[in-house]
Amino acid sequence: MGKETQSVVIVGGGVIGLACGYYLAGSGHRVTVIERDSSLLSGSSEGNAGMVVPSHFIPLAAPGVISQGLKWMLDPKSPFFLRPRLDFGLMRWLWLFYRHANTDHVKRSEGLLRDIGLESRRLHQELAESEGFELVQRGLLMLCQSEEGLEEEAEVAQAAQRLGLKATVFTKDRLKDFEPDCSVDALGGVWFEQDCHLNPMDFVTALRKGITARGGVFFEEDVVDFVREKDQVVGVRTSEANEHVADRIVLAGGVISTELARKLDLRLPMQGGKGYSLTLKEPRKALRLCSLLKEGRVAVTPMGKTLRVSGTMEICGTDTSLSPARLQGIIESFCRFYPDFEPDDFSGIDPWVGLRPCSPDGLPYIGTLSRQKRVIVATGHSMMGLSLAPVTGMLCEKLITGESSPINLSALSPERFH
Ligand SMILES: Cc1cc2nc3c(=O)[nH]c(=O)nc-3n(C[C@H](O)[C@H](O)[C@H](O)COP(=O)(O)OP(=O)(O)OC[C@H]3O[C@@H](n4cnc5c(N)ncnc54)[C@H](O)[C@@H]3O)c2cc1C
Repeated sequence: MGKETQSVVIVGGGVIGLACGYYLAGSGHRVTVIERDSSLLSGSSEGNAGMVVPSHFIPLAAPGVISQGLKWMLDPKSPFFLRPRLDFGLMRWLWLFYRHANTDHVKRSEGLLRDIGLESRRLHQELAESEGFELVQRGLLMLCQSEEGLEEEAEVAQAAQRLGLKATVFTKDRLKDFEPDCSVDALGGVWFEQDCHLNPMDFVTALRKGITARGGVFFEEDVVDFVREKDQVVGVRTSEANEHVADRIVLAGGVISTELARKLDLRLPMQGGKGYSLTLKEPRKALRLCSLLKEGRVAVTPMGKTLRVSGTMEICGTDTSLSPARLQGIIESFCRFYPDFEPDDFSGIDPWVGLRPCSPDGLPYIGTLSRQKRVIVATGHSMMGLSLAPVTGMLCEKLITGESSPINLSALSPERFH
């Protein structure tokens, strides 16, 4: 398996599977994307906040996250929840998360997250130009309403600067410069100038068109097992008993990948991090920049003429039921920071729900399996799947073509918890 054209089956048509397909088809490989839910064809990806965030160099597993999470669990409107249940997968995930929520892990991961974040941003720019979708490059505001929040974020800004990222701490007098047409209630915050935003629907549509234009094909089928020759995986089998045999198989099924990985005797710990978004079609005021609201953990993204407000992280396995209290929590937080808006603005809006595929150390899984050389895993991007999709697609293409990778992938090995 060298540089020659190969056939590649990709399991999962979310933003990661599509980005892998795009780069593979672009270098001449014969791509088949299998997605079980045609109503989505972009998985948990199309309703997300659309932020491209090199500023996210701190993994989800970080100091303070557990104590904050425990406090939040007592409040039904809070942005975090974990439904306690007797489930071995959840117990193990929590144990691994606990082991990684420390400063050493953050220090070990920050350079890698910065590098893949910046490379992905560069690729997003390239894609936006070549595929013709809008990438708004005005940065992201981290807005804080409390002194304590502002202090914490100023420390993050310092760490970002140390890593060579652009981060500017600002006070409330600068808010009008950032948002001239809308009131913002905050003490100040941090402007992460290199962050961008886009409409995720435009992005996944561009990737799908790009795959089709380069000869790739899509199937709406549910992959239930692998096809083996002797003990080696050579393809996938679907619920309709169809077999798709290929030189390479990319497992990009989001949080569901764990189930399929089990059939390969691979332990791929993951939990769904449930979140919601609500999109105002005709917002009262126009915003220029996307923002994260520190105390509410809410994301706000202008998308063309519309405005998307999203949030919550409910560690929930694969359950996609809605929590009205947490939705209300998102709306109230947003209206507190942007007082021109009222909770009634959201009446009648259908919420979107998505599952972030969360690994216990907050790093994605990207790599070839040592015992199944044809299988590549690309998942576990948690809250950064859209942001890191292009770099993941590019890295997957390099793994398949056999070219050296610009990024050291050892920390991202899908076998690191085996
Ligand atoms: C509220 C919210 C806001 C977010 N905001 C951002 C943001 O601003 N920026 C950012 O970078 N990220 C954001 N994210 C995270 C991002 O959406 C995810 O990281 C990303 O969608 C993960 O993509 P994926 O392709 O790995 O998984 P998915 O999108 O879940 O796609 C996996 C696909 O595989 C399919 N599949 C699974 N198993 C099988 C099978 N056996 N056979 C066939 N098909 C299968 C599924 O149906 C699914 O469509 C947000 C997430 C949420 C919930």
